Amino acid sequence: AQEEDACDFLFKIIFIGDSDVGKTCVIHSFKSGEFRDKHQNTIGVDFTVHSMDIDGKRVKMQIWDTAGQERFRTITQSYYRSAHGAMIAYDLTRRSTFDSLPHWIHAVEQYGAANVVFVLIGNKCDLAHQRQVLFEDACTLAEQTGSLAALETSAKENHNVQEAFELMARELIVRS
Ligand code: GDP
Ligand code: MG
Repeated sequence: AQEEDACDFLFKIIFIGDSDVGKTCVIHSFKSGEFRDKHQNTIGVDFTVHSMDIDGKRVKMQIWDTAGQERFRTITQSYYRSAHGAMIAYDLTRRSTFDSLPHWIHAVEQYGAANVVFVLIGNKCDLAHQRQVLFEDACTLAEQTGSLAALETSAKENHNVQEAFELMARELIVRS
């Protein structure tokens, strides 16, 4: 257990955004490289821990998922507390989920610590033919909101998922 606990960095990463954008699937894809098609309705707030090696450093990411409270925008404040990074996700085939991003960013600013690192995640890029959000628009919003980056991912095809978490981890290492 001692060996398991040894790490150079431990970061709390929260995942937020409207329901059904694919947050749970992206987290699952990150952890296993697999797409889980079933709806997972966990009860309560939950986190999983994932370790990665970055430039010889052992980094632990404590990744927090919501359990559907986002549907009612009633995520408990403790969810945001002491988060180092926030993945803010939308579904690039549903414009309304992109239009919600300022709400979620504001929630982190309100309830989280100062200097939380934001990464905007446009999920479901395997459905790019049904796209309602230009990547350009996401990049503009990232700039306007001081986010680290905007990325498009597919949990289904495990595309850009590792990259998103690695980008976040590298930035958090630089800042710590
Ligand atoms: P959450 O409410 O944000 O946690 O969303 P879920 O992870 O539960 O996913 C919502 C729905 O979107 C499910 O039916 C998933 O199968 C589907 N989904 C999630 N990610 C992707 C993706 O990358 N591509 C496609 N095509 N569907 C996805
Ligand atoms: Mg979910």
